[in-house]
Amino acid sequence: MHRLGVLGWPVAHSRSPAMQNAALAALGMADWHYQLLPVPPELLAQTTRGLGGAGFVGANVTIPHKQAALALADSASEAARTIGAANTLTFAADGAIAAENTDAPGLIAAIGEPLAGKRALVLGAGGSARAAVWALREAGAAEVAIWNRTGERAAALAHELGARAVGEPQGADLLVNCTAVGLAPAPGEELAQLGLTAALVGEFETVVDLVYREEPTELLAAAQAQGARTLDGLEMLVAQGALSFELWTGREAPLDAMREAARAGQ
Ligand code: NAP
Repeated sequence: MHRLGVLGWPVAHSRSPAMQNAALAALGMADWHYQLLPVPPELLAQTTRGLGGAGFVGANVTIPHKQAALALADSASEAARTIGAANTLTFAADGAIAAENTDAPGLIAAIGEPLAGKRALVLGAGGSARAAVWALREAGAAEVAIWNRTGERAAALAHELGARAVGEPQGADLLVNCTAVGLAPAPGEELAQLGLTAALVGEFETVVDLVYREEPTELLAAAQAQGARTLDGLEMLVAQGALSFELWTGREAPLDAMREAARAGQ
């Protein structure tokens, strides 16, 4: 049996097992299985080091372990190192652990349109904003502006990754919400929490919200009403999961099966 899983704490609500097992089933990979790996922070290093010997080929990493996973790995890609976080680990036969970040290329894959020369605004300055800013710069965006509720964090991130911090959100080609706003519905308040108005949302051609929940976030609802192209967080979840799947199995990920399974939980 080839084992895969997702390390998190808590992790019970992750859609990755359903999505990844649907991918394995679609390709007839009956001797592979993907499972939850609920591990508290104090046990992460010890548990993760034992996974290779227990038949695990790889693991995804989610909240709160992405930085710790990078730290415990024996090697890391340039993307993971620069972003400072890993969401994908691969276990070699000799026990070595390699760290990768597929959140960043997953975002670019989910957007699925050329970004060279485009102007982007990223909302947020946490872990996912870091991956988004790095990914957009790598994809050739002409300008990446960062707005965050706590301005100093936006300034620090902009300085580190070669972007520009802004005191208030301003129009661009692409908007990416990397804050937790919308995760818990706040009816009538979500746009204001993001420093946005419906008119300002209308200035963007494409609006991406990393948050996923059953009903559209107020950001995506406003963007749809203004005729923008919209992508919700599940599209990025599918895209990052597909890249992890390909890394572990060497097979092309069956995106439709993964998307269907990820959305089935809604
Ligand atoms: P994080 O590191 O904790 O950062 C949270 C960010 O949200 C910070 O910039 C914080 O601003 C901001 N924020 C929180 N509450 C806010 C509020 N009420 N008003 C304005 N700003 C607020 O979190 P993360 O790991 O980057 O994740 C952010 C979101 O992305 C989460 O909802 C997560 O579920 C989602 N996500 C989705 C995917 C996917 O595959 N779809 C992948 C990764 C993350 P301050 O600095 O001012 O506190």
